[in-house]
Amino acid sequence: MQTISGNNYDIFFGAKGYESLATILLPSHYSKIFILVDENTSQYCLPYFLSNLATDIEIEIIELEAGELHKNITTCTEVWGALSELRADRKSIVLNLGGGVISDLGGFVACTFMRGIDFITIPTTLLSMVDAAIGGKNGVDLEHLKNQIGLIREPKAVIIDTQFLSTLPANEMRSGLAEMLKHGLIYDAEHWNKFKNLKTLNTDYLEELIHRSIQIKNEIVLQDIYESNVRKVLNFGHTLGHAIESYFLAKNNETTLLHGEAVAAGMILESFLSKEQKLLSQEDYQEIKYIINELFERISFSNETIATIIDLLHFDKKNTFGEIQFVLLEKIGTATINRNVDKTLIYKAFEDYKC
Ligand code: NAD
Ligand code: ZN
Repeated sequence: MQTISGNNYDIFFGAKGYESLATILLPSHYSKIFILVDENTSQYCLPYFLSNLATDIEIEIIELEAGELHKNITTCTEVWGALSELRADRKSIVLNLGGGVISDLGGFVACTFMRGIDFITIPTTLLSMVDAAIGGKNGVDLEHLKNQIGLIREPKAVIIDTQFLSTLPANEMRSGLAEMLKHGLIYDAEHWNKFKNLKTLNTDYLEELIHRSIQIKNEIVLQDIYESNVRKVLNFGHTLGHAIESYFLAKNNETTLLHGEAVAAGMILESFLSKEQKLLSQEDYQEIKYIINELFERISFSNETIATIIDLLHFDKKNTFGEIQFVLLEKIGTATINRNVDKTLIYKAFEDYKC
């Protein structure tokens, strides 16, 4: 697979990734390597990763508990402390081996330790390969507010090795798949078409799709690194998706819903809004709804739930001057940003989602 170039870093695939790592990780460049893992990537990914890592530099491992719950400043303080205790200096480098939680937090910790040391991202979930690891956003949550603290800074490199996906649970695979479908819907109809017959994911084919998804995210980011305009298209499905996700997070005794599963529903709902605003054709809408429903289990929403979710939209980070802003589709493969939508239409979208 061909290397993809970000603004100031490269995204390497497979064996080429480990070769590039070996050339980056020379004792003349770095004093010490710190590999950040969580309890799962420590078990499933670290032994394989170490067996592929060719370097003479001393390595230290820092292991965190898994999960979004730990993506906060308290954990950062622990990691900064560990780096300091293990004698990290300004020539040290952090390798983030894990999903989006590890890459977001590890990137942030590296960018702030001693005013910034280098880091490399090695994503191990589908979602982090096609999304979290690409584009230079790093950060942590502030209480229940997601990604409130952070900064944009690119890694030294990103290494994509789809071997890691062999141990990833099916629901986590589906979560990443939602972002890939999104890439097709907002940017590339041909990419979307490839998912039409994809009930079970075949790994060879998957690698190609991952490569294209990364290319799409990267192309969008390159046009607008600081998200002042075009980059916002990546939020398609996420205005309602985030509200749905927050609702089910708060009700954690009920259904547990992964980010991508909430975004999948968000994409159907926001496609409906696009159709009602006379942007998207009826045919395109029906196709989107059909394909997503084939791949994702439908979520059941009571009337009370819908009202709470709609209230949650007021907390969306994209809102400006109190207006809820949506990314809508003009057709499969083309999106438009900063669209206001009437509340009654959002209720109507949920009604339509149910049938
Ligand atoms: P995650 O990092 O929590 O990983 C999901 C689960 O899979 C965890 O339990 C993890 O331990 C486990 N895991 C990871 N790799 C594994 C493997 N190879 N085999 C078995 N288990 C494995 O979550 P995620 O879905 O990867 O990422 C979600 C995070 O990414 C969120 O915090 C979100 O805010 C962030 N994100 C950031 C960006 C960005 O641009 N920076 C974009 C999208 C999402
Ligand atoms: Zn997302």
